[in-house]
Amino acid sequence: MLPIRAAGLYTHAMTPSPEQPSAQNLSSRPGATHVAVIGAGPAGLMAADRLVAQGHRVSVFEKMPSPARKFLMAGRGGLNLTHSEPLEHFLSRYGQIAPVLEGAIRAFPPEATRAFAAELGESTFIGSSGRVFPDSFKASPMLRAWLRRLGTLGVELRTRHDWRGWSPSGALMFDTPEGRKEITADATLLALGGASWPRLGGDGGWTGHLASRGIALAPFAPANMGIEIDWSAPFRERFAGEPLKRIALSCAGAGPVRGEAMVTARGLEGGAVYALSRAVRDRLAAEGEAQLRLDLRPDFDQALIARRLATGPLKQSLSNRLRKAVGLSPVAVGLLREAAGVALPTDPAALARLIKAAPIKVRAVAGLERAISSAGGIGFDALDDHFMLRAIPGTFACGEMLDWEAPTGGYLLQACFATGRAAAEGISAFLAARATP
Ligand SMILES: Cc1cc2nc3c(=O)[nH]c(=O)nc-3n(C[C@H](O)[C@H](O)[C@H](O)COP(=O)(O)OP(=O)(O)OC[C@H]3O[C@@H](n4cnc5c(N)ncnc54)[C@H](O)[C@@H]3O)c2cc1C
Repeated sequence: MLPIRAAGLYTHAMTPSPEQPSAQNLSSRPGATHVAVIGAGPAGLMAADRLVAQGHRVSVFEKMPSPARKFLMAGRGGLNLTHSEPLEHFLSRYGQIAPVLEGAIRAFPPEATRAFAAELGESTFIGSSGRVFPDSFKASPMLRAWLRRLGTLGVELRTRHDWRGWSPSGALMFDTPEGRKEITADATLLALGGASWPRLGGDGGWTGHLASRGIALAPFAPANMGIEIDWSAPFRERFAGEPLKRIALSCAGAGPVRGEAMVTARGLEGGAVYALSRAVRDRLAAEGEAQLRLDLRPDFDQALIARRLATGPLKQSLSNRLRKAVGLSPVAVGLLREAAGVALPTDPAALARLIKAAPIKVRAVAGLERAISSAGGIGFDALDDHFMLRAIPGTFACGEMLDWEAPTGGYLLQACFATGRAAAEGISAFLAARATP
């Protein structure tokens, strides 16, 4: 069960919490401009936070019975909020789309995310890899404090409101347990997420509504996903669930990426694999096949490995020599055998070559149901510099529903927070311009 229930979070309208200082309830303030935020994930909540602070009346609509389910899921394995590396490096993680996201991330950089978490009572720490985590490691305390604060400020949350596009008159249409509702707002922010882990809410079901308004969309594809490999039955039975530690992976000119991977019954998962997911996915799409190269001892060069293998006692079995002379774990030795096909070479130089670049054929990439994130969505050409849809003035979009991708390491949440914030600024500017005669 998701911690949201245990945490006793709001499942309907947010109401000011009695222990918070009293604040003006903007949702009932007459004359305030009304902004509809659709999607209660981290991007939508960040935008709502900024919009209400700027004096707008804000309603957040969410189709699930409770908000931010993917954010909570992200907290299960340790919530990696952002990364501490220098901003230039940080931005480069977004690849070709970095120049488009740069303005939003510079305006709300990783330090701002850390400060924001601290405001919510969650101080953060930098892990040995440079990744930033809340002290609790979890998402639920931060989400709980965040929803309490939004409620105090008068943000209204309507769960079980499934957005179904626009009515002929231009109103927002929602399917709710009470039937179809039509709602009008002065501006709308779409924060509907991508299409991975659809059971958490973001299933990309919104694409038809936007396509029908002429918005160009890139098809969804899994990102930061596991890869599928046809392991032999003995390898799969013995090693599924075993970690491969301190390895380096490359594929199609991308990498080497140092890190860890986990052997699964279907292939490989884990940080080092996710970092190559785009290269593997693109190679499979272009060539129909992809090959991963595993360096099982990235700290040793090939000549050193060959020397060590050549000097071991001759009586020793090959597995023992690989373990004692090179420090390979049983799963790494098993993987070498998978890569070699039949028998391992006995010549130290050939064996060292295999240890440094074991070829593994990738059959497929795992699907959207289990991918950490998705590529695809609204193309940036469809947006102006303020995240407004050019074809639908007054409607903005942010978060993972936009067509960018990034590796794990906190880059996903950081871009969601930053684009949510930037879209909120865009909405305020749009409404201010509209109010000016
Ligand atoms: C297992 C896992 C672990 C992760 N770990 C990390 C991590 O440690 N660090 C990191 O940076 N990222 C991580 N991520 C990724 C991160 O959680 C997402 O990138 C982020 O949640 C996307 O935010 P978003 O607000 O754009 O979309 P979402 O979080 O998907 O929120 C979108 C919301 O919109 C709602 N919605 C969708 N359609 C409709 C509709 N028609 N009507 C109304 N509401 C709708 C959805 O129900 C959802 O609540 C992880 C993801 C997963 C799956």
